[in-house]
Amino acid sequence: MSREFPSDASARRPSVPVVVGTVAIGGAAPNQAPVVVQSMTNTDTADVAGTTRQVAELARAGSELVRITVNTPEAAAAVPRIRERLDMMGVSVPLIGDFHYNGHQLLEREPACAEALAKYRINPGNVGFGKKKDTQFAAIIEFALKYAKPVRIGANWGSLDQSMVAALMDENHARAEPWDAARVGREALIRSALDSAARAEELGLPRERIVLSCKVSGVQELIAVYRDLAARGDYALHLGLTEAGMGSKGIVASTAALAVLLQEGIGDTIRISLTPEPGESRSREVIVAQELLQTMGLRAFTPLVTACPGCGRTTSTLFQELAKTVQDHVRAKMPEWRLQYDGVENLTLAVMGCVVNGPGESKHADIGISLPGTGEAPAAPVFIDGQKAMTLRGDNIASEFVGIVEDYVARRYAARG
Ligand code: SF4
Repeated sequence: MSREFPSDASARRPSVPVVVGTVAIGGAAPNQAPVVVQSMTNTDTADVAGTTRQVAELARAGSELVRITVNTPEAAAAVPRIRERLDMMGVSVPLIGDFHYNGHQLLEREPACAEALAKYRINPGNVGFGKKKDTQFAAIIEFALKYAKPVRIGANWGSLDQSMVAALMDENHARAEPWDAARVGREALIRSALDSAARAEELGLPRERIVLSCKVSGVQELIAVYRDLAARGDYALHLGLTEAGMGSKGIVASTAALAVLLQEGIGDTIRISLTPEPGESRSREVIVAQELLQTMGLRAFTPLVTACPGCGRTTSTLFQELAKTVQDHVRAKMPEWRLQYDGVENLTLAVMGCVVNGPGESKHADIGISLPGTGEAPAAPVFIDGQKAMTLRGDNIASEFVGIVEDYVARRYAARG
């Protein structure tokens, strides 16, 4: 049976709504946009074919916004061509340009790039140095005004504005009870973002076109920074643990930090900054972001499979293989199902290894199968909508179960008009 989203799911923090291309971010109830999944390419943006291919892959995996590096004149010149190719492929995902150091020059030199991007991302710590900082920041805001684009002002622990840090250190020394260094660092990050946002507003950029982020690489630090940032303004916020790392470490660290903040209603867009393992698809970061939101009950993207871990009661790896087959199948079918069937993303499935928890867990899912454990008769009862519907036997259990799932989806979910 479909699980309703928990009634105690945290209320989102209201924020000023921002529109990035066709995607809404933030806002306040009842029109608040859902938390948006974002990702970033790792191709050389000057490589039009490679970048187009990866953006399309990320979008098809479910990324609702894709950020690309814009670091050279060649990369800036490639942006409108990438946009054009994506449009020809029917991929409408908005592109965000990631600018560091020379954004003001690239936007001036390539008006088509400034136009093709749906948002500019700048880092106040390296938009310019010394006397040039203010003028270069102002130049980028002028381009955002000229082309009617939103801007993410993204401060980062690794590239803090050192003049801001020095000023805060002096301020701290004058305190009767000085803060510790970590708190001074957090304050520098937050002030860098908030002061830059205030400056952008002074220059005429409305709050409806500003998104903030303050990224650090430590879980506890990120939670502390965003709680403070969220309490000090109503800007839309982008969440992400920067340099999260590779594999399970990156996933766990990102999830640990973002889950706490999302549960407190903080965050309007998220990115999971995973370092891909050699040969791994860049889309993994999109799937992890979706699974984080879905397992928390905040959004639904793809039917998820509940599977037991297996133990000494089952000698077979059949249930592991079946769980993977079913999860891969529904993920592969989703682009098609999403267009055909309304609500199919809420489907719940269970693949279990033996009689101990198998029937019970299977009855909680829309469709579940309880495979035979050690010493059990070689039969796999299938439960549909909480009732035992049939028993599968033999060598074709996987394909027969997938067929049952297909039939159920076609029968249960209303065809889209
Ligand atoms: S359902 Fe059975 S096989 Fe799976 S973990 Fe529980 S006891 Fe072990």
